[in-house]
Order: sequence, then structure tokens, then C-alpha cells
Amino acid sequence: MLMLISYKYRAYPDADTEVRLNTALDTCRWLYNKLLEELNAARKNGFTLKKVETQARIVTLKDENPALKEVYSKVLQMVNNTLWSNIAALSQTKKRGRKIGKLRFKSAFRYRTLNYNQSGFKIDKEHSIITFSKIGAVRITMHRPCVGRVKGILITRSSDGWYVTIQAEQEVSEPKRCGRSVGIDVGLNSYCVDSDGRVVQNPRFYEQSLIKIKKLQQSVSRKKRFSNNWKKAKDRLDKVYEHVFNQRNDFLHKLSRQYVDTYATICVENLDVKGLKEKGSNTGMHRSIHSVAWGKFFSYLSYKAESAGTKLIKVNPKNTSQICSNCGHIVKKTLSDRVHACPNCGFVADRDYNAAVNICRIGTEQPFMPVETMPLHHISV
Ligand SMILES: [Zn+2]
Repeated sequence: MLMLISYKYRAYPDADTEVRLNTALDTCRWLYNKLLEELNAARKNGFTLKKVETQARIVTLKDENPALKEVYSKVLQMVNNTLWSNIAALSQTKKRGRKIGKLRFKSAFRYRTLNYNQSGFKIDKEHSIITFSKIGAVRITMHRPCVGRVKGILITRSSDGWYVTIQAEQEVSEPKRCGRSVGIDVGLNSYCVDSDGRVVQNPRFYEQSLIKIKKLQQSVSRKKRFSNNWKKAKDRLDKVYEHVFNQRNDFLHKLSRQYVDTYATICVENLDVKGLKEKGSNTGMHRSIHSVAWGKFFSYLSYKAESAGTKLIKVNPKNTSQICSNCGHIVKKTLSDRVHACPNCGFVADRDYNAAVNICRIGTEQPFMPVETMPLHHISV
């Protein structure tokens, strides 16, 4: 079982390196806007471009803007990825019948992250230095060491300096990192999403046994009530229900164990507090089933946390899904809005991921920090 962990460190590039970082950011922003402009122009002329086509366009654009050659190629690819994931996020919101503006061109202020995915970096843990391809060496403060297989590094310009975010994958069995905290948002579309970008799929135990259950239900209904055969058939049906029940419990035990083993602090919403309706589904029945399952998950977390010395913090759920985790602006959403798109700062992210970051920030009493749209990893437990 792999967990995805992200480590955030302050970074201190020297003056020359900072110039290169700013230039690279500017070039990436140019590329983002250029590709968006061409997509819009194509649409106006009645045809649509595909992701692979804008990807291929990067190569030919290098003649037009030689500065592109000074940026690591994978970083440029990620610019195209970001553009397309923003487009996907917006079109998803549109499909739900919500009005939303066109994708905006990025101003220099809003374009602030270089995404080194899989390659183009070297971490020197001993000296707390990361060397980025085409940028150079950047000193960081590694107050806690990062562990695991590094999947990618983001380097971000913020109003108060530079940050790097290291995304690493690691086995749960590794010892708990001291000081690591996580926010978990339980939801309807997936079982939960956490602030490290991990999406746990809803288990479908009932659905998996549904054919069997239907058959047995028919078998029960065909038999004479209270006859021996009826009792036998009913026993068989009860066994299947019990099996599903055990599978669910098993899942919740495993999941809570993973979180408790991985984090020193776990933040969740306080389900006892009113205002959870912004979380529930439309029908009362469904909502109550979900809240029972969430309640069980939290109680498993709670007693496992206590014996493992992990802190479990329950935060007020008010506005956790509405606040922009990047800037604090309130972005009203209905239940069907799956995407958080902030008109104030331009931050676009999965709705539940945005909520998970808020839950973590509130629970650990942290100030707002720049949040990066990171690739979410879908996992089934
Ligand atoms: Zn915002």
C-alpha cells in the first residue's frame, strides 16, 4: 500500500538562480497563454485542438520563442498538462449547468510554479540542496527529512519567498514521520480525499454482491413463510449481508490504520456540528447511510489514534468546502459543483481536495499558504 506524501520546504535561491527561476516562470506563462490563445482561435474557426496537438506545438514554438529552449522540456510539458486539466475542470463545471467564465490568461502574478515531474532534479539531502535542470542549485531548509520515492518537485514563488514541494510515494509500514499532518475530507464521489492529494475510491462491496443478494431474495420470497426451506434460504441471505458488513468494517479498519500509522496529526470535520448538509447527498436516506459510515470511520480513527499517540483534531465543518484554500476567498458552490475555481486568485482544484487542505489548515491552525494544484492519486484500499 503506497501513500503519497508532500513535503513543503522554504527555498533560498541565490540572486542568479532567482533570475533564472523568474525567467523560466515567465516563459512558462508565455507558453500557457500562447497555447490557450491558439486553442481559442481554433475554436473560433470551428475546429478543436487535442492535448497531443498542443503538446506537439511546444516543439515548433521553440523557433518562435527561443527562451523555451532554456526551460527543462518536462516542465514545458507540465504547462500543457496544467492547461488541459484547467480546461477539463471548467468544462466539468459547465456541464453541471453552472455559468463560469472562460479560462483566463495568466498574469505574471498568477503564474508562479515550475513543475518538475519525474525527472530534471537531484536532491542532495545531506546538504539540503536541490539541483534543478536548467535552473541550478537551490538551497532549502529541510526541517524534516523527506522519505520515499520522489515523484516530482514543484518550485513556487510566493509573496514571501520561494517554496519547494516534494511529492513522494512511500510504504505505510515506514515509521511515522514526526510532525506530519493531514486533512481528510470524506465525500460522496469518492470515499475520501486528503490534503496530500490521495483519493480513496468508494468501495463497492454491496454492489459486488448485488446479483447474489437479488437471487437469494427471490429464493426467499418464493418459499412458504416460516417453512424450513424458507429459513434456510433466509440464512443464506443473511450470510451474504454479514459478509458485506464485514468487508466494510475491514475496509474502515485498514484505512484508519494507514492514516494513524502515517501521520502525527489527523484533521477531520466534526460530524456532530450542524451545517453538514453542504456535504450530504440530496436524499435524507442516502445522507444518513453516509454519515453513519463516516462516523464509524472517525471512531476507528479516534481509538487507533489514541493508542498510537496520534492527534485527531475535529474541526468545525462550516465553509470548509467554500473557502479558497489558496487565498481565503469564499467561493459559493452547490453540491453538484465538483470543482473549486476561485475568481479571486485563479486557483482551480478538485472540490474535495480544496476542502481537505482547508481542514488541515484549520485543524493545525496554520495561516494561508500558497496551494498547488497537484495531481490527485486515485487509490482503492
Ligand atoms: Zn482563491
